[in-house]
Amino acid sequence: MEKFDVVIIGAGLGGLECGYILAKNGYSVCVLEKESQIGGCLQTFKRGKTTFDTGLHYVGGLGEGESLNKLFKYFDLMDLPWQKLDDNCFDEVILNGKSYQFAMGQERFVETLAQEFPHQRENLKRYSDVLRTVGDNLFDNFRAKDPNEIYNSPFFNRSAYEFLNETIDDPTLRNVLAGTSLKMELNAEKLPLYFFAQINDSFIRSAWRIKGGGSQIADLLANSIKKMGGTVCTNAKATKLIETDGKISSVVINDNEEITADYFISDIHPSTTLELIKESQKIRNIYRKRITNLPNTHGIFTANIALKEECIPYLNRNQYIYETDDLWSYGQYQPNRKTDCALVSYMIPESGKYAKSLDILTPMHWEEVKQWENTEPMHRDDAYNALKAQKAEECIDLASKYISGLKESIDKVYTSTPLTYANYTGTAQGSAYGVQKDYNQLMLTMLVPRTPVPNLLLTGQNLNLHGILGVSVTSFFTCSEIIGKYDLTR
Ligand SMILES: Cc1cc2nc3c(=O)[nH]c(=O)nc-3n(C[C@H](O)[C@H](O)[C@H](O)COP(=O)(O)OP(=O)(O)OC[C@H]3O[C@@H](n4cnc5c(N)ncnc54)[C@H](O)[C@@H]3O)c2cc1C
Repeated sequence: MEKFDVVIIGAGLGGLECGYILAKNGYSVCVLEKESQIGGCLQTFKRGKTTFDTGLHYVGGLGEGESLNKLFKYFDLMDLPWQKLDDNCFDEVILNGKSYQFAMGQERFVETLAQEFPHQRENLKRYSDVLRTVGDNLFDNFRAKDPNEIYNSPFFNRSAYEFLNETIDDPTLRNVLAGTSLKMELNAEKLPLYFFAQINDSFIRSAWRIKGGGSQIADLLANSIKKMGGTVCTNAKATKLIETDGKISSVVINDNEEITADYFISDIHPSTTLELIKESQKIRNIYRKRITNLPNTHGIFTANIALKEECIPYLNRNQYIYETDDLWSYGQYQPNRKTDCALVSYMIPESGKYAKSLDILTPMHWEEVKQWENTEPMHRDDAYNALKAQKAEECIDLASKYISGLKESIDKVYTSTPLTYANYTGTAQGSAYGVQKDYNQLMLTMLVPRTPVPNLLLTGQNLNLHGILGVSVTSFFTCSEIIGKYDLTR
């Protein structure tokens, strides 16, 4: 039986980063991935000549001295073809037909929006100061001695929605400021301020796309792990974790092969992790119940659109389109809600000034696709295909109001739903941002890497912050349980 210091389940960003950190610190590691392609949400796929991303459109905080830059330097990821979005407008929010621009850098961000909302200049400064404070302290929060101390920060216990209402008087500006938040679940009753502030702050500091797709991040991490003597196995699904004398002794792969290790890290959803441990002295029913019942954030519907040659100019910014004032209710499933919001993200073309493809994303709840959960991909019925076609049409209708000539420029449309993510990444309910955090119930919804089994740790987007930045911070947080604290600021 093969033996490693650490076995990691799941080669998403979190699993690969943990593999990298541990290999760099001299541990023998093995990363297991159930799919034939590594990367999880960082996978890209090709249709014809066009490459599409699945779960990476842009990242924040990659500028010199910024948080993701520090982390990606450690992971040796800074030489990838990163491209900064437009300084003057990296995100455009189109709210009921009117366009608002988000400029990079806190001062320019405030100044640009203050031109539209002069009476809100001071409030915008206060808003931006709070975001900056949260961003400045990103790494501090993860230096706490006791994992539970981390969440004592007042920003965790406060509602993002209430903060916005208390800070900004103007309801339109409130919606504009929330308008780039399709990268989290806008839930008025639950979303902690920390998430809203941290994520928005990182993009305001600087926003970047990667030319050629997010899978390059996963590939580079995997190659580095291998160079440092580690192993990355694809088509290797963890099907069981065996507990012996209160510790995990081995993992069973594809129901037939067993690997032993001193530590096990799970980059998959915590409830799916517990399903792998059938018998345990350490995991009490109350913990199992708590984890299994954690609500998940909504999923995403994506229309990946291949464009005809030289029709739509490449836009070096994202467009967030809303035909509603009700931005804070996407966390609740509302049957028959029409597609009233969309994020349009352009893929950087290999050459020239025209886009080859763009993605249109909109929230989609598990309830919309649940009836097909026990069916196989590519073998779903006409009703599922009709649902996807209708949703794609709604997304295109919405986007084409603001992108001139879009409909005539479409070559092909490919679609994915939360069911697609549930199938390909194993994400519970195809959730886009993992476990739903609730500022009213912080201790219940914010997970730490430790589990009741002393040598089983968790990592990935379900723990604290989701997204590329959040998952990267958590990877250090998880590995520090094995290698000791690491100073993220050096
Ligand atoms: C549509 C969409 C768009 C997004 N856009 C952005 C963006 O623009 N910017 C940003 O910062 N973030 C974005 N995100 C979020 C970001 O992609 C994720 O937070 C992050 O990639 C999650 O990484 P992870 O390692 O936690 O999980 P995952 O990527 O889900 O990785 C888990 C891995 O575990 C594997 N696995 C599951 N079960 C098993 C098993 N039993 N055995 C072995 N392997 C297993 C899966 O196949 C997968 O590879 C987006 C997410 C979505 C869904």
